[in-house]
Amino acid sequence: MTTPESLQIPTDLLPRDGRFGAGPSKVRAEQLAALVDTGTSYLGTSHRQATVRNKVGEVREGLTALFNLPDGYEVLLGNGGTTCFWDAATFHLVAEHSQHLSFGEFSSKFASAVKDAPHLSDPEIITSETGTHPRAVAREDVDLYALTHNETSTGVMMPVERPAGASGLVAVDATSGAGGLFVDPRQFDCYYFAPQKSFASDGGLWLALCSPAAVERIESLAASQRWTPAFFDLKIALDNSRLNQTYNTPALATIHLLASQIQWFNENGGLEFSAGRSRRSAEILYTWAEASDFATPFVAEPAERSHVVGTIDFVDQIDAALVAKVLRRHGVVDTEPYRKLGRNQLRIAMFPSVDPEDVASLCACINYIVGNL
Ligand SMILES: *Cc1c(COP(=O)(O)O)cnc(C)c1O
Repeated sequence: MTTPESLQIPTDLLPRDGRFGAGPSKVRAEQLAALVDTGTSYLGTSHRQATVRNKVGEVREGLTALFNLPDGYEVLLGNGGTTCFWDAATFHLVAEHSQHLSFGEFSSKFASAVKDAPHLSDPEIITSETGTHPRAVAREDVDLYALTHNETSTGVMMPVERPAGASGLVAVDATSGAGGLFVDPRQFDCYYFAPQKSFASDGGLWLALCSPAAVERIESLAASQRWTPAFFDLKIALDNSRLNQTYNTPALATIHLLASQIQWFNENGGLEFSAGRSRRSAEILYTWAEASDFATPFVAEPAERSHVVGTIDFVDQIDAALVAKVLRRHGVVDTEPYRKLGRNQLRIAMFPSVDPEDVASLCACINYIVGNL
């Protein structure tokens, strides 16, 4: 009898690269090779000197090109990842009162950070059922609208749009969406992310594409009486970013891997190319799930099904955790669902680095496992 422990997936069905995790995500071999190729000239050198600062400059210019940023938009960066940026935003982006669309683990966290900040008023938090997204509502007293381009915990994506008639800043957590989803920079004031998802680098860094209005907000809050720890001070980050530096020492490998990925996107056609790859992968995944008699897309509304992180529910008779375990034994890793969602589900990242053909192979592997257990 075939047991989950003895089941062997035929080698020719396996994806060429088995990394489907939502972050840290697949790093392309070419990125790693480019880093190794630097030999003794990059790693282990000062981040205050030209070698590294030019690399940071390459990242900032590369992102400006990739997102087609209008004049006056600036690329800021600092250490600490997205979670750190949320805290920084409570000091230097939210003036007084914010509105948050909360529809999963990640979007709820920024809302909590604001709620806990003693110097801000209680935020307005708009929620929706798991597997959907709420809509922002323009209000006179809201000075920042907090959106999330892609809710990584549930696999729901939403369009980035300024709420009609709103005057407040639009800040978007694009940690998993940036690079893998289309966006019009005129629709946001701050589009922030970390590089361990679509940008196929490592964690620990944050990047923020800021409109002139966002820069002005940072400058005016920094000039106010509000006490701000230096690590969360976005004015310090702004001043350092303009010099292609970070406030404190960054991870140089992270910056190099990130620069390689941005270059790969830009050389192949920019966001059209990178988001196009994720869109193609998503088409393969959801088409397979819809045709399957044991799997269905978790997100009911097709337009809200993420192109970068797909969530697939399984019927009760099939244990998704067991499927993930068999996959893992074959080197196909990190398809487990977001732990706190608690569903009989697989979660599959389809960031631009992931080959759409590998997503097709993954679907074939799942069919094989289910058919042979
Ligand atoms: C991964 C993720 C985060 C957390 O990023 P860190 O860099 O680990 O802090 C935040 N928001 C979203 C949408 C994410 O996908």
